[in-house]
Amino acid sequence: MKSERRRLWLAAGLVGAGLVIVAASVAMALVTAESEPVPAALVPDSLTSTQSAPIAAAVPVEVPDVVGEPLAQAEAVLATYFTVERREAATAPADAARTVLSQSPGGGALAERGSVVVLTHAPGSEPAQVSTAPAVVAAASSAGKVVVIDAGHQRTSDQRPEPLGPGSSETKMRVTGGTTGVSTGKPEYVFTLELSERVRKRLEAAGVKVVMVRTAHDVSISNAERAQKANAAGADLFLRVHADGNTDRSMRGLSTLYPAKNSWTGPIHDESLAAAKVVHAAVIKSSGAKDRGLSARGDLTGFNWSKVPSCLVEAGFMSNAEEDALLVSDAYQEKLAAGIAAGVLTYLGKD
Ligand SMILES: [Zn+2]
Repeated sequence: MKSERRRLWLAAGLVGAGLVIVAASVAMALVTAESEPVPAALVPDSLTSTQSAPIAAAVPVEVPDVVGEPLAQAEAVLATYFTVERREAATAPADAARTVLSQSPGGGALAERGSVVVLTHAPGSEPAQVSTAPAVVAAASSAGKVVVIDAGHQRTSDQRPEPLGPGSSETKMRVTGGTTGVSTGKPEYVFTLELSERVRKRLEAAGVKVVMVRTAHDVSISNAERAQKANAAGADLFLRVHADGNTDRSMRGLSTLYPAKNSWTGPIHDESLAAAKVVHAAVIKSSGAKDRGLSARGDLTGFNWSKVPSCLVEAGFMSNAEEDALLVSDAYQEKLAAGIAAGVLTYLGKD
């Protein structure tokens, strides 16, 4: 009797876990970077109400490596996702005042949002350079850098196949039209170009050379070709601008995608992640958008063909009536552009 009941609970538990996994994969499949929204008919009714919650809460975040950083800077970097606990070491090398000696969990580990990262730091007084205004430093050293901006999608989709990455037998559609604003009716390809132009103005004002993948809607440029434009330009960053759509109209918020490590993206993974982190933090701060975090993607042609660091901002959900209305407004686009540009300048200025 007892063991029967236990078996039943075990079975119920397994089914439950299975549902969460299915819900998570359905939600991931609905992200519209490069692809058309999945028709509502493909989403089982029982799953629609659980799509957003498990994704937002359960996706772990990569812990940044802050060993060797000044303590205050390390805390600022970690504060986006984690709770920081300080521990002062009894002794440390003379030149290590207030820098992080070790961290737990270590850099690169995956941890839940809001979890504690313990920083063991050297004793001593705060080094002077912590108070340096980062924006000014960034602007000075980003002059002469090249950023290629890809305003996602185009008016007419091109459903012919192209390889998922160089030499791949797996293919994806060359380029799609993207999603459409549920209340405004604005196509994603119009929004992405509007926002991209605003980012371009700000970067150019800071002395960055900007190359636009497209400046018109009636073009035919596949996702692989967009990446190749960035490669040809020798871009310091290939910045991709998109918006999301989902059959669950309650979903909203901003996420930033970067290339997962695969056979093509190994050389650009670390730099892309570094760019994604600073761009994401800056645009969340400037826009006040709901933070959907960073997401590593190995299935995006535009990443897999890129030989330069790349990240993709999914600026919000055009399938959410409220966010759709925000996304088309000049004021909100300016907030988004200010954050994206500030993040890019910070990234470019770091070396
Ligand atoms: Zn898109």
